[in-house]
Parts: sequence; structure tokens; C-alpha cells
Amino acid sequence: MNFKTLSIHAGHRSLDHQGAVMTPIYQTSTFAFRAVGQPGAFDYSRSGNPTRKALEECLAALEGGAAGFAFGTGMAAETTLVMLFQSGDTILVHNDLYGGTYRLFETAFRSKGIRARYIDLRDRDVLEAALAEGAAAVWIESPTNPLMNLVDLKQTADAAHRHGALAICDNTFLSPYFQRPLEFGIDIVVHSTTKYINGHSDVVGGAAMVNRADLAERIGFLQNALGTCAGPQDCFLVLRGIKTLALRMEEHNRNGLAVAQWLSRHPKIESVLHPGLPSHPQHGLALEQMRGYGGTFSFRVRGGQEAAFQMLAGVRIFTLAESLGGVESLIEHPVSMTHASVPAEVRERMGLSPNLIRISVGLEDLDDLIDDLSAALERV
Ligand SMILES: *Cc1c(COP(=O)(O)O)cnc(C)c1O
Repeated sequence: MNFKTLSIHAGHRSLDHQGAVMTPIYQTSTFAFRAVGQPGAFDYSRSGNPTRKALEECLAALEGGAAGFAFGTGMAAETTLVMLFQSGDTILVHNDLYGGTYRLFETAFRSKGIRARYIDLRDRDVLEAALAEGAAAVWIESPTNPLMNLVDLKQTADAAHRHGALAICDNTFLSPYFQRPLEFGIDIVVHSTTKYINGHSDVVGGAAMVNRADLAERIGFLQNALGTCAGPQDCFLVLRGIKTLALRMEEHNRNGLAVAQWLSRHPKIESVLHPGLPSHPQHGLALEQMRGYGGTFSFRVRGGQEAAFQMLAGVRIFTLAESLGGVESLIEHPVSMTHASVPAEVRERMGLSPNLIRISVGLEDLDDLIDDLSAALERV
């Protein structure tokens, strides 16, 4: 079955649910045993719940994976994955990445002996050298957040495997509709389902998908042992969001690209960081490994932080807020908001400048969105 069909049907069998066409919310903590030593298909909701199972099967199908796991948040998914590693392990990470992932590595896991090492994953020689020095995994975001750099998924996965390391990809920015990392040899895909997958800014959630049975078993074990799973109500909402994922992504993509093109012609804009623009240094790679771009990208306003703040104060339709991937358009200032937990000298090394703005272009009318940005830029 193709993506749109899977997004509506995968994981759900009406006959398992009294004929219900939509997966019911199994709002129960525990399940009756038939007799001592004879549990049913489910025994306790941390270990498994039918609503969560439907979502997990759907997520696995969409990523082209054999197994999927739903977590309480994207960070709960990431925490569970990092717990696959041992004290003394090194995880190679790209220089710019989601601020919460940076914080997780630096404040939660470094003191436990699991070390993140930040390198430029776009540079083959740098990656090879770092792998040769010893690494348990490579942690990829592509596009990176918020600088929209791309990492070659196939090349990176192949290099990791040659050195016995795992390749993990955070696919939050594109969703499986536009990029399916498992097809390029990535071992584990992780998502914040809070973003495009749910798409309606009313749930926080996370997911991980794999093809390898040994990894599925270990992640499933950790999900239960750590208790990082998602609750049934949230799983229901994410399942509902997924039914329109393909339609939403197409429209985010159209609106996003049009806004990026408009901004790139605006005299008050210094640069637009969008992999769909031919000016992006990795536009060719984008065409190879992505089927589209979604609606999230960044740009730099001429005139430094003050100009950026003036623009942010002038928007009316765009909401000044963290997060991305919802139906509504959001705008934010990475240095003071999403990436504030990254120390200033690290931000500088990453290229996170104070005139950088990230937007998540939603599904409103394109002309209204451009009018809004245009009026905001008038104030600069
Ligand atoms: C939001 C986000 C996360 C964290 O997800 P939460 O659901 O907020 O815990 C991880 N990675 C990326 C790329 C994100 O955008």
C-alpha cells in the first residue's frame, strides 16, 4: 500500500474493536488476566496498550520500518535511545542540532559517561577520522535545526556501519512523507511527533522506528523498563493527525517554498536557509534524499538582533512561539528561545547568529502570510 493509504489504515483493524472505524482510546491502566499465568494480549498499559499499539504499527508502516515505538515526548524517545549505550561510549553529533538534544547529551548523559562529540557530519574525512577514534553511534539531524544543513544519510550510515557504529536519524523536520531514512541504511529513526506527525499543536509525543529485530527488542524493553511510553489519549490524537499527514505536508511544502522565495527577493533579508532553493549549498543532496521540504526554515535579517526583534514584534498571523509543524504559522528567535540552552560560544561555533529567525509556515492562506511578513519587515 502507498503512503496515503497507510496513513489512514495502518495499525487499525475494525474487527478487533467491535467494528469501530476509528481506533478507540483504551483509557485503562491494566487488563484482566483470563486465569493465573494466562494474561490476554495486554496486561499493563506501560508494557502495552491497544491504542498505542495501533499508533506504533502505523508509524512503523509510514517509515518503512518493521517496528515502531510511541513515547510521551520527543525527548522521552531520545532518552530511551541514548539508554541503549554504555558508560564510555561516544556518540558523534553534528555541530548544529536541536537545543533540547544538546541539553540532553550535556546535562543528563555526559556525567554518566556517555559523551557526545560535535563534528561537521557533512565532511567525509572528519567523520571517518572521528569514527576511527571510536564511536558507538552517529546521531544525525537532516535538515539540522535551525541552520537547515543537510547530512548525507546513505554515506553517513555506510561509514558508521564500516566502523561498527549505529546510525540514528532525527527525522522530525520532514516526517516520513518527505524523507525515509531507513531506506538509506539508517538504523533508528526518531521523531518528535509533537511537530508535523501530529501537526495540530495539541499533543507532545515522540516515536522511534527500526528495521532490525534486535534493536526493536532492546528499544521495546527500555520503553517498558524506563516507562517513557505515550498515554492512550495522546496516541489517539496523533493517530488522527496522521490521517492528513500527506495533505498537510504537501501544503506546508508549497507555502514554505513560496514564502522562502519571497523572502529571498526582499531587500531587508540577508539570506534564506532553505534546502529547496537552488542557492542552498546542498540543494543537489536535497533532491537525492528528500521528496520535499515541509514548512520550516530559517533566514537572516539585515541589521542584526535589533532588526530581527523589530520584525518579530510586527507579525500578527505568525505567532511568536517555539515548536513547529502545526497547522498554524509560528516564528521564533533561536538564540533567545529554542537554542537558549546552548552556551553562547557553542552557538557562535554553530553559526547561530542573533539576526537568525526560524519560521514554521502553516496552512493559512499564502497571500495573508506574505502580507503579514511584509508588514512586519516594514517596521525594520
Ligand atoms: C521538538 C524537537 C525535539 C523534541 O521533541 P519534544 O516532543 O518537544 O520532546 C527533538 N528533535 C527535534 C528536531 C525537534 O524539533
